[in-house]
Amino acid sequence: MERTLSIIKPDGVRKNIIGDVVKRFEKNGLKVAAMKMVSLSKSEAECFYAVHRERPFFGSLTEFMSSGPVVLMVLAGENAIQKNRDLMGATDPKKAATGTIRKDFADSIESNIVHGSDGAETASFEIGYFFSGLEVLA
Ligand code: GDP
Repeated sequence: MERTLSIIKPDGVRKNIIGDVVKRFEKNGLKVAAMKMVSLSKSEAECFYAVHRERPFFGSLTEFMSSGPVVLMVLAGENAIQKNRDLMGATDPKKAATGTIRKDFADSIESNIVHGSDGAETASFEIGYFFSGLEVLA
């Protein structure tokens, strides 16, 4: 059993596909262990993506992530971190495999519908950034 953080980014919420995205997770053996919708401030997005602060797209990315509501989820299941990454597909939807969330729904390398933790340490930091222990129910 493993936990990972998933975010449906502002483009996913705007496209009204929250249900489609959650269905992919549930159909593939991941359980929603916590869920909430929030609007991130620019500085909350900057702290979340702090590892990318030197990247040229940092300003644009954090602007995008604070441009509207997002859905935050903790997903739980066997190999949840890798399974979620596989379901998301490559960062750039043009390079994402057929049948992945990003291939099917994303418009660009930045507006790519979903975030998913990329490793165990990241998952632990990211879940703790948004959820208290009492809010995670699996
Ligand atoms: P992920 O783990 O697949 O989400 O990718 P990264 O951790 O490398 O990047 C974090 C997020 O930054 C991505 O999901 C995109 O929203 C954005 N991003 C990554 N690379 C680029 C880029 O080259 N240009 C822009 N504008 N955004 C990017």
